[in-house]
Amino acid sequence: MNSSPSTVTPVVKEQAPFLFLILFFLVQATVLTVFTVPFSLSLVWVAVGSYFLRMFGITAAYHRYFSHASFKTSRVFQFVLAWIGAMAMQKGPLWWAAHHRNHHKYSDTEKDIHSPSRKGFWYSHMFWFLRNDYNDYESKLIPDFYKYPELRILDRYHWIAPLSYAVLLYAIGGWGWLVYGYAVSTFFLGHATWTINSLSHVYGSVRFDSRDTSKNNLWLALLTMGEGWHNNHHYYCSSANQGFYWYEVDISYYILKVLSWFGIVWDLKKPPKKVLEEGLLRDREEKERKRNLEQNKPKVKVKNKVEILST
Ligand SMILES: [Zn+2]
Ligand SMILES: [Zn+2]
Repeated sequence: MNSSPSTVTPVVKEQAPFLFLILFFLVQATVLTVFTVPFSLSLVWVAVGSYFLRMFGITAAYHRYFSHASFKTSRVFQFVLAWIGAMAMQKGPLWWAAHHRNHHKYSDTEKDIHSPSRKGFWYSHMFWFLRNDYNDYESKLIPDFYKYPELRILDRYHWIAPLSYAVLLYAIGGWGWLVYGYAVSTFFLGHATWTINSLSHVYGSVRFDSRDTSKNNLWLALLTMGEGWHNNHHYYCSSANQGFYWYEVDISYYILKVLSWFGIVWDLKKPPKKVLEEGLLRDREEKERKRNLEQNKPKVKVKNKVEILST
């Protein structure tokens, strides 16, 4: 299922932005500055806190709000969400959401911008956005948010949010906070986010027939605050929760739920009963299939210990 309003076809050109590539790998290499700071557990917590704060900015804001409009909020909090997402250094919210809408529209077809089955693992993980082709985005893909001038400005100058965040960290805790809270944290945050484009289209279980390679994966869900329920998401992408059942951990949704109690966000969309029942039926069928497979396994006669020892 797909809630994308666009019918615009992405333009694909073959170019490699050399300077951007160098800059990207230099930024990636800043993770090595970790060796310039004596290890301390409190700094690890700074990195973890910074990771999850900005992961929420990507999952709840860039993904569930700007890409899929799966809940509503005020114009002020909308900007706050956009700012937290931009702090993750994954470009602006309009750029991110417009390309993501295309991913759902063309998932695992030739036009999918990051399909591991079509273009390979590393391309889907990070090489796709290192090309000049995707520097820009089609504004027609995201008219519902493009209309806000403050979002267009933040999107155009998307580097302001991460830069000011880095300055803030340095002002609070000096070099140690900058290294752990920014360099180390951003490295892991980036790769964890990108696993949803790469690993979650490769490893995991399939519950719904989403007509693509999306999978559900608990480990990725834990790492990405709920995004690992990617097969659920591809099947019904306008839902605010991606873990459809109580046992599918979805930290981003829990936080959104708490925010809704305070009236900060509202109208959190949920999957319809029909989809939830279909999912449970699929789970039962899969369990049954595995049980039958187990029962029909050819029994191999194993020599007992005494026989083995005597031969
Ligand atoms: Zn996907
Ligand atoms: Zn999505």
